[in-house]
Amino acid sequence: MTIETIAQRIRTQLEELSAFTATPGNGVTRFPFTQEARKASDYLKTRMEEVGLTVRMDNSGSVIGRLEGQVPDTVMIGSHLDSVQFGGAYDGIAGVVCAIEAVRQMAESNEKPFYSIEVIATNDEEGSRFKSGLFTGKVMDAQLTVEDIQRYKDADGVSVYAAMKEYGLNPDEIANHKRTDIKAFIEVHIEQGPILEAEQKDIGVVDIIVGIKRALVTVNGRADHIGTMPMNMRMDAVEAATKVIANIGDRSRQYPLAVATVGNLNVAPNIVNIIPSQVTYTVDFRGTTQDEIDAQYKGMLEDLQAVTVRFHMSFDVAETLNVIPVELSKDFRSYIKESCTKRGYSNMNIVSGAGHDAQVFGARMPAAMIFVPSIGGRSHCPEENTDARTLAMASNVAYDTLLRICAEKRL
Ligand SMILES: [Zn+2]
Repeated sequence: MTIETIAQRIRTQLEELSAFTATPGNGVTRFPFTQEARKASDYLKTRMEEVGLTVRMDNSGSVIGRLEGQVPDTVMIGSHLDSVQFGGAYDGIAGVVCAIEAVRQMAESNEKPFYSIEVIATNDEEGSRFKSGLFTGKVMDAQLTVEDIQRYKDADGVSVYAAMKEYGLNPDEIANHKRTDIKAFIEVHIEQGPILEAEQKDIGVVDIIVGIKRALVTVNGRADHIGTMPMNMRMDAVEAATKVIANIGDRSRQYPLAVATVGNLNVAPNIVNIIPSQVTYTVDFRGTTQDEIDAQYKGMLEDLQAVTVRFHMSFDVAETLNVIPVELSKDFRSYIKESCTKRGYSNMNIVSGAGHDAQVFGARMPAAMIFVPSIGGRSHCPEENTDARTLAMASNVAYDTLLRICAEKRL
């Protein structure tokens, strides 16, 4: 099959899928457990059936197409079907379509693969609706309880529990869907950054998916008159907090692949003539090792300690997210590289600074991620774009990788 034939199939499917959006004319908005998610799921189900897969929706709302192998142990390949608000037509869904095309080549060979293969379109990876995310992966690892899904609510106060019920799923069974038969996970995904394009590479071989530590910090000062309270007696929450925040970026730069972001900042009472009594901010530390994440976090805590002691103030830190960095399978990375070499695709190793489904699976089984260039490095916006030819290349590499995993029989 020529690369152009595969590219054309991918192009057509992505164009048709982009119509399943809650914001027509303003990018793709496909939140979990919505009409748009249902339509995209039905569409994917039909495409998977055409390939000859046995298709079902699991209790997380993901769509799974299975190609039975010689053994029940399963290699899963796919990505997510949901999107962010006003997102693009490629993030997640492109990886699902590439997986369908990779497994089409396996199914057409009429040879039963050693491992069973499942193509998956996972649900609620982004966390856009319920501020949680990586939902399907967590359900398959039985990480969520009924209490958890009752607690996560969308902007209208609808819980994951209620949304699942409305969608025809069984939320009371949420903790009973651990999949122990899945032995490996492969994900094709757009890079969502500028590196592959700048380096003029077709394929990115992901080494590591970064770990994330996120916290909500509160610095407590005291409201007083801005003119009458002397500088050596005031408890100014903005002065204290900004001294700490100013150090965060430079500390992060000590580690070449770490990033740190203060994305949300609130000042109370936020009035021109009152000394600020409280500052709250969110901070997100990412890195390729837990040590560099912890070092950044510890450095910030020391700064908070020092500055609040100096001004006789107090602070409070609540951790809101903790995800460990995941190194992807060395064997799978070498299979991917060998496939690229054989096919003449240029490639490079790359770190994923974003979280992905492969992170949840990769924490407990060998996993691989294959990146393709994002044009202009744009993502999570309507302008998101990727050349269908590079997606077809990634699909071919995924196909080779699946064959190799089946040939090695080492899972
Ligand atoms: Zn994604």
